[in-house]
Amino acid sequence: MFVEKPKEGQPWDVAIIGSGPSALTAAIYTTRGAASTLVLAGDVWGGQLMLTTTVDNFPGFPDGVQGPELMQKMRQQAERFGAEMIDKNLTGLDVSQKPFKLMVGEQIYTASSVIIATGALTKWLGIPGEEKLLGKGISSCAPCDAPFFKDKNVVVVGGGDSAMEEALVLTKYARKVTIVHRREEFRASAAMQKKVFGNEKIEVLWNKELLEYFGEHKLEKIKIKDTKTSEETEMPVDGVFVAIGHVPATSPFKNIITLDQKGYIVPQPKGEFKSSTNVDGVFVAGDVHDHDYRQAITAAGFGCIAGMEVLKHLDKDIPSW
Ligand code: NAP
Repeated sequence: MFVEKPKEGQPWDVAIIGSGPSALTAAIYTTRGAASTLVLAGDVWGGQLMLTTTVDNFPGFPDGVQGPELMQKMRQQAERFGAEMIDKNLTGLDVSQKPFKLMVGEQIYTASSVIIATGALTKWLGIPGEEKLLGKGISSCAPCDAPFFKDKNVVVVGGGDSAMEEALVLTKYARKVTIVHRREEFRASAAMQKKVFGNEKIEVLWNKELLEYFGEHKLEKIKIKDTKTSEETEMPVDGVFVAIGHVPATSPFKNIITLDQKGYIVPQPKGEFKSSTNVDGVFVAGDVHDHDYRQAITAAGFGCIAGMEVLKHLDKDIPSW
């Protein structure tokens, strides 16, 4: 244990909101830097990795690791150094004066600094069969799951850069990749479209939307509707990758922290601080501001940066490592 809880009535050095790789990495750094650290982990802790199966691209696990197991290990590591975990959701944040106030229902916690690491949630289609077959043929992460679809037929849903990227990654393994898009043009960048159109494994179905997934223990087929003719067809398929965007988890921060049009936090680098926000003492890490990379390892990297910057902000010693 590197750090104790603050004395009764004293604020925590840092409160971290979230419990994915960015939040827990930040907690490992702040506790090891002797900052008392409260983690508001949420009712459902662990972030997007709790929904995945084998993670093969996180360094240090040559045989892969189950997403939930990886998160459990990160949590145990943060707790070993003294991070205090509260498995409840933040219900309010007051940054109008220091120490900051963090509300969890009736309970109020105070902290000298805050790291927002609430992540982003995959936007799903919300159609019948999706919940049941998630992880059983339905995924949202080709870099994580593409190898499971070697020589299989897969569908990617969406028309943005994410969908293009998912499709291109999948072509390294799948026999055929079909992009299903609801309109007759992509919104993806020209460069990404060029790569997609130049790949002979990829076919595009324009003006189509998914209506339903079918399968008992794994995905077997989907129902598709033509948005122009309303004709409905069924298509046998081994996998569906949903790439219709992400929703940043920023609802508690509206009108407090500067957000972009899509709701992602906009970091406001100041001097040596790269992860600072518009509020002095409030930092950001991970997918809640990074809409480009969205990998567990990049989220962990952002968590490390925010953790180290909080220590500098608090003027604590940075440990030698
Ligand atoms: P996005 O640009 O918002 O595109 C989402 C796509 O999904 C759109 O084509 C949209 O269709 C479709 N869609 C949304 N809701 C849908 C629904 N309910 N049913 C069917 N289709 C639906 O999201 P993104 O592709 O995740 O990209 C997000 C940001 O990250 C962008 O700024 C992108 O440039 C960036 N990004 C960059 C890279 C890269 O440069 N390598 C990679 C990934 C992401 P409509 O077009 O009809 O609206």
